[in-house]
Amino acid sequence: MPYIKNSQQHYDKYKRDQEARSFYKSKKWRQCREVILCRDNFLCVDHLKKNQVVAAQMVHHIKELRDYPELAFEPSNLVSLCLSCHEKRHPDRGKRKEKRKKRNLNVVEFEANPEIT
Ligand SMILES: [Zn+2]
Ligand SMILES: [Zn+2]
Repeated sequence: MPYIKNSQQHYDKYKRDQEARSFYKSKKWRQCREVILCRDNFLCVDHLKKNQVVAAQMVHHIKELRDYPELAFEPSNLVSLCLSCHEKRHPDRGKRKEKRKKRNLNVVEFEANPEIT
């Protein structure tokens, strides 16, 4: 059966995306996310620093999941953020977006937030 052969690099990246996707869908992550949201009172911590009250829309990994998988469930590595503050925490996302457009990786984090979808 013919199939499209990807480069090893592409395959690795694809596999990592798949792993990230299944991570955000995992029960353990969903529970962990709830704990962090509760800890932060369901508020965006970056806005709170500026004394502004904004509902959190996601839980962000301070040290990225793909770089520090061992910190995936570490509360000190997790913060509740609103969408706009989350964008600011990922200043390179604009560049990535272009490359990832096709697979729409951003959906991964959106999936972690039923409110958004
Ligand atoms: Zn993030
Ligand atoms: Zn915010």
